[in-house]
Order: sequence, then structure tokens, then C-alpha cells
Amino acid sequence: MKIIILGAPGAGKGTQATKISEKYGIVHISTGDIFRANIKGGTEIGKLAKSYIDAGKLVPDSVTCDIVKDRLTKDDVKDGYLLDGFPRSLFQAEELSKFDDIDICLNLEVDTSLIMDRICGRRMCACGESYHVSTLGGKTTCAKCGNELYVRDDDNPATVKSRLDTYNVMTAPLIAYYAAQNKLVTVVCGTKTPDEVFAAVCDALDSFGK
Ligand code: AMP
Repeated sequence: MKIIILGAPGAGKGTQATKISEKYGIVHISTGDIFRANIKGGTEIGKLAKSYIDAGKLVPDSVTCDIVKDRLTKDDVKDGYLLDGFPRSLFQAEELSKFDDIDICLNLEVDTSLIMDRICGRRMCACGESYHVSTLGGKTTCAKCGNELYVRDDDNPATVKSRLDTYNVMTAPLIAYYAAQNKLVTVVCGTKTPDEVFAAVCDALDSFGK
């Protein structure tokens, strides 16, 4: 199964992608995680990506598309993959279609009025878990692995506003693009918990095409 996961910032793409990849045994590829690893490692790609990420803008296609193309040549994607954060524009979707055919575009629909609070209250762990500050009761470590939680550099109000604008202009048109190809599956997140969203995602994926 080759899936891409779409959704506005804060829709819970990373959380759902981790759960999907565990349940369906497919590799989770997150372009945001790849960029963050490069920033941490001080690579040239990281240095370039940081200025765009901090501004809530898209990292240039010339860099992003090459990273994904290269990643999709590895052996571990043969049985499928889940692309989280790519494509993020019609251009990237067209580029992807030149070197692979995805089966499903999973669209997580979220109420945009909730996004600012969701993201600005987000606390991340290096293991991939994420929390909201309102549920942590003052704790600063991860319940799963014990690591210290941190706030992503781009999870601040100014950058979130820009990320939302970028999403609306560049990424949202992909919903119609994949709907026209009969590949779109939409799950409405509403006020559901991550586990409830995941149950709805599994139902939607399992019944897709039946
Ligand atoms: P994410 O972790 O998916 O929220 O991505 C964090 C940031 O990385 C985004 O706001 C962009 O600046 C950058 N980024 C991630 N994926 C892409 C992509 N497909 N194209 C361009 N920039 C990206």
C-alpha cells in the first residue's frame, strides 16, 4: 500500500502516520523529519532548509523532490510506504507521479480554528510521541521513553500563521487533485482523540476500494 497523508499543520499527520505504519507494516517517510535531522546534523541541506522552515515556507522543490526520489529507491519501500508531508504542492504531486503511483491519499480534515492552540501547545519527544501541554499536568518528560520534551522551533504563532497560509495556497488544492483520481479518503477529526481518529482512519483505509 502506497499512501500519502495530507492535512493542515496540527491535523495530527505525524501521530496518525506513526500508528498507520506500525499497524500496516509500511515505512513512514516524513520530509519534515528528514529536514529536522539534517538541521540537527548541520548538513548543507539542513542549513538551507532551516530558513524556510522557520519562516513557515516550503523548502525549494529542487531539494525536496530529490530527497524523496532518492528515499523511494531504497529496498524498504518495496512493500509500500506512507509519505507524510510530501507532496505539498501540485508541482510535487506531478513530480511524484513521474516516478511512482500512489494508491491512497488520506486527508485529515481539521477545524482551522483549533489549529493555533493545538500547535502552540504541542510538546514533542525525539521518539516521535507528541503531547499537548494541557494534558501533561506539568510533566516535561515523555511517558513512553522518559526523554525530555521540546517545542519545535516552528511551533510559534507567527510561523504557524505562515504555515497555514502556505497550506491553504499550496497544499489544499491537492485534495481536489487526488479526488479527481478517485484516490482520496477523508477523515474528519473534529474533537476526536488521536485513538478515535486512528479507528476512523483504519475503517476508511480498510474499506477503500471495496
Ligand atoms: P512538517 O514536519 O511536515 O510539519 O514539516 C515542517 C516544515 O518542513 C514545513 O513547514 C516546510 O517548511 C518543510 N517541509 C516539509 N515537507 C516539505 C515539502 N514536501 N516541501 C517543502 N517543504 C517541506
